[in-house]
Amino acid sequence: MYIGCHLSISNGFTKAAQAAISIGANTFQFFTRNPRGGKAKDLDFDDIEKLKEIMKKYKFGSLLAHAPYTLNLASYKENVYDFAKTIFKNDLERLEKIPCNLYNFHPGNHTGKGEEYGIDRIAAILNDVITGNENTMILLETMSGKGTEIGYTFEQLKKIIDKIKYSELIGVCLDTCHVYSAGYDIVNNLDNVIEHFDNIVGIDKLKAIHLNDSMKEFGSKKDRHAGIGEGTIGLEAITKIINHPQLRDLPFFLETPNDLDGHKYEIELLRELGS
Ligand code: FE
Ligand code: FE
Ligand code: ZN
Repeated sequence: MYIGCHLSISNGFTKAAQAAISIGANTFQFFTRNPRGGKAKDLDFDDIEKLKEIMKKYKFGSLLAHAPYTLNLASYKENVYDFAKTIFKNDLERLEKIPCNLYNFHPGNHTGKGEEYGIDRIAAILNDVITGNENTMILLETMSGKGTEIGYTFEQLKKIIDKIKYSELIGVCLDTCHVYSAGYDIVNNLDNVIEHFDNIVGIDKLKAIHLNDSMKEFGSKKDRHAGIGEGTIGLEAITKIINHPQLRDLPFFLETPNDLDGHKYEIELLRELGS
């Protein structure tokens, strides 16, 4: 089982990988830069070489890079839109130099312009920046549907993917908290939700799972993560998720409100519950 949590790389990749090992993780997620955007640190190639050694020695799965969550690829404001494009392009270029083949981002917010408008804007940026030569899978994260978010239905994700020239480089990262809030009942109907995803998007597009419990009730459209087993999704449903034949081989990333010890406990628990 590939499992890890979100870790900071502000002290370098080696430190993050060592922290991952210390909690029993064999992958981790990191923000490509300050989560609120801004300039990324210059890459330290000694650090990256050490990261590669650790990943090989401890048989890590692919890391997951997360784009700053303030990027809005669907914005109608040209400065916001251009900023998102610049950061996205720069992140993709940098990832070619890092042993990380997955780049996750929040599709965007249409801020009143409507879903179709937003989807077109997102697709336009992706078609502008993806060269087709990337070694990275670009993952649309499933969203909870708060505000004017795009990407909270499987149909929206499919519409975006269908507009991308190099659609073979686009996948999906399913966030369990978000889909539950968006109204997909993974607690009572996990098989149906997965079947629905397969029918609309295609299960082969699913590349990673954000494994979170939720503080909010089913269908709330709210985005509040809870610790594993401490929310409305609960441990029984989460056990089914990590053992589901169509999910179990994917990498799982915890984004639960915990410190390193808390994540260590969750990873131990999940390894016990995983078959
Ligand atoms: Fe996210
Ligand atoms: Fe997430
Ligand atoms: Zn979230």
